Amino acid sequence: MKEDYYEILGISKGATVAEIKKAYRKKAIEDHPDKNPGDEKAEERFKKAAEAYEVLSDSDKKARYDQYGHQAFEGGGFGGGGGMNMDDIFSQFGDIFGGGGFGGFSGFGGGGGRRTVKGSNLRIRVKLTLEEIANGVEKKIKVKRKKVAQGTTYNTCGTCNGSGQVTRIQNTILGRMQTSATCSTCGGGGQMVDKKPTNADAHGMLATEETVSIKIPAGVVDGMQLKVTGKGNDAPGNGVTGDLLVAIEELPHAALQREGDNLHYDLYISFSEAALGTSKEIDTVTGKVRIKIDTGAQSGKILRLRNKGIPSINGYGTGDLLVHVNVWTPKTLSKEQKEFFEKMNDDEHFQPKPEKEDKSFFEKVKDMFS
Ligand SMILES: [Zn+2]
Repeated sequence: MKEDYYEILGISKGATVAEIKKAYRKKAIEDHPDKNPGDEKAEERFKKAAEAYEVLSDSDKKARYDQYGHQAFEGGGFGGGGGMNMDDIFSQFGDIFGGGGFGGFSGFGGGGGRRTVKGSNLRIRVKLTLEEIANGVEKKIKVKRKKVAQGTTYNTCGTCNGSGQVTRIQNTILGRMQTSATCSTCGGGGQMVDKKPTNADAHGMLATEETVSIKIPAGVVDGMQLKVTGKGNDAPGNGVTGDLLVAIEELPHAALQREGDNLHYDLYISFSEAALGTSKEIDTVTGKVRIKIDTGAQSGKILRLRNKGIPSINGYGTGDLLVHVNVWTPKTLSKEQKEFFEKMNDDEHFQPKPEKEDKSFFEKVKDMFS
């Protein structure tokens, strides 16, 4: 059970934007890893608070959370918070603690000891059809990345010794506290440009366009975020290149509805097809399939096509395709048809006689989830 975001920050549901920010700032200072070295519980609280703030500080996400709770962000984290790492948290700090941010460099790379400067992450969105999601796909995406220009050389920044950060000891009401701020000499890059080509920017970088190939596994979920390591922006000097974060967006399908790993298909058959039996071609994520409808099919019947759903992203098998049979009742009748049905009104074959297997809708739903 995930903790309530409001409880994590110790605020009420009616908290204002300023109160949310203030509460988060307090928690972030208390549990900051620099202040609690080696304390995993503090780090855990620090991450939780960051995740809570990420959602509650965004009016859109907050509204979704208020309505649906944690379920609003199930299945991934993009737009939620589940997938936050320390880089994301620290990059959020520019907003919270004011100051210059990190000048395009997200700042913290390797934990412990000397920190390596890391280039900023890039974020893109990839739209996938249900078929692509079901089968897995490789996408080639054009990405605009900042790369160190050929011919650029760097010197290590003398002010911060290449860390990009300057450390200050501050006396606060919470006690003596070590805070790190972006080095103003190098802007957080840790490196000063020595020589650079004329077309490069102030950090010796060039904006380049690169086609990145992204392997998307079968079973991804809308909102999920994939990471392609080292395909973000370069960091100057010996820094580590940032990552490319790929958010998955699922395009609606014309005939199929997804529910977790299962798919649903609404099949409409005519009155006479239901009475006489028929066969129908339906869409699946792996192509068309012909299914048989028995004589005397009832509206509301659900046919389960095993393993015709979406493969589980975690590798736990494949979902099913549930075909919902709907018998179409004619809305208008010719004179002859009307006479025919009037004659049939008292016919015993036309009298409803539900048997055990013609279960009520609720029993069927119960079965489906058991
Ligand atoms: Zn510096």
